[in-house]
Amino acid sequence: MSIQIPRGTQDILPGTVEKWQYIEEKAKEICTNYQYKEIRTPVFESSELFTRGVGDTTDIVQKEMYIFEDRGGRNLALRPEGTASVVRSFVENKMFGNPNQPTKLFYSGPMFRYERPQAGRYRQFVQFGVEALGSEDPAIDAEVISLAMAIYQKIGLKNLKLVINSLGDSQSRLAHREALINHFKPSIGEFCSDCQSRLEKNPLRILDCKKDRDHELMGTAPSILDFLNEESKVYFDKVQTYLSSMNIEFEVDPTLVRGLDYYNHTAFEIMSNAEGFGAITTLCGGGRYNGLVEMIGGPSTPGIGFALSIERLIAALDAEKVDLPINEQIDCYLVSLGEEAKDYTVKLLHELRDNGFSAERDYQDRKIKAQFKAADRHKAKFVAVLGEDELKANKINVKDMTTGEQEEISLDQFISHFQQKLR
Ligand code: ATP
Ligand code: MG
Repeated sequence: MSIQIPRGTQDILPGTVEKWQYIEEKAKEICTNYQYKEIRTPVFESSELFTRGVGDTTDIVQKEMYIFEDRGGRNLALRPEGTASVVRSFVENKMFGNPNQPTKLFYSGPMFRYERPQAGRYRQFVQFGVEALGSEDPAIDAEVISLAMAIYQKIGLKNLKLVINSLGDSQSRLAHREALINHFKPSIGEFCSDCQSRLEKNPLRILDCKKDRDHELMGTAPSILDFLNEESKVYFDKVQTYLSSMNIEFEVDPTLVRGLDYYNHTAFEIMSNAEGFGAITTLCGGGRYNGLVEMIGGPSTPGIGFALSIERLIAALDAEKVDLPINEQIDCYLVSLGEEAKDYTVKLLHELRDNGFSAERDYQDRKIKAQFKAADRHKAKFVAVLGEDELKANKINVKDMTTGEQEEISLDQFISHFQQKLR
């Protein structure tokens, strides 16, 4: 049998890849407006980075990591997410020492998780994310959220739902943690084995359990919002005020959690409301993680970020039937008749491209009719026809495919003709 693509991965072929390019370009452009700079980190890291940085009680680390030993006996992992790597690099490169703070970074690249593949869930997927490190101003929380929303909106999505919550500071979280343990402990036997081990280690993660989500104790669990201390409340209020001042609609959902100790204050998700969008509706997740930099060995530095996957963004675009403004047209297709004219198109084609025009010619020895068909398939704006007679007369026939207008042009004027018409 021939070799097939690994389960949970996909080839992105011409015809679809243009969507990806458009989205990635757009997201980068928006990041530039918001003054986030790109960072590129390796696709593999020490496994320990993720056990520490993502947390060894998470599904990502416990069940989903691709771990391997290299020939030198090092324990490495294909990165399952981007934040830990960005923070590692921030610490390793002492970016906290730069005068420009906060350090605002974005990344884009493949992530790897050993998951059960289904619509919107792949084993290799592309995440686009941002991290803002070094500021505890609630305005930066609002900025990060508004940046995520801008990416979806400027790409053309309309049916979006933004959900936010606050996990408070460590004092608030500790009080909430106690209340959660008391709430679940008497009935913990009715929960899955993961939840049982979460009870003491990380009870907040019980609220995030996919297996037990319908258990009645889930709905009645103590809300983090009732445990926020004054400072945390003020912080959360500020974030909401800033969002409202930017006309960004949101809902507060006290059950939205991030299960790790170093997460605090703002947590958010963006969901698709589009009809026909699959069971998995979350497009983007983010939050504040003031303890993470320290956990990874750097100086105590606040941080906030989000990650979204391009796969789910595209699924949402498809569900909303958004047409992206992708240019599929080429500027000129060169049709030739006869051996000498054909040879001459090599030079003409090169001149067109050299001057910045997209252009193509026939390489299959096609008859003239088939060359015109090829020009159609390329959606050529202009078709230039060169026959033996034209070549002798130092001329070429250029047809504007939009207007149908034809002109005989001197070969010396060929490039300047396109410069006039297309610039
Ligand atoms: P889920 O609950 O869907 O498993 P998650 O909590 O594991 O999501 P995060 O780790 O917060 O997701 O990742 C951020 C974003 O990355 C998600 O909101 C989603 O858009 C995307 N994402 C996560 N896992 C996958 C995957 N396996 N395939 C495609 N996209 C994914
Ligand atoms: Mg997951």
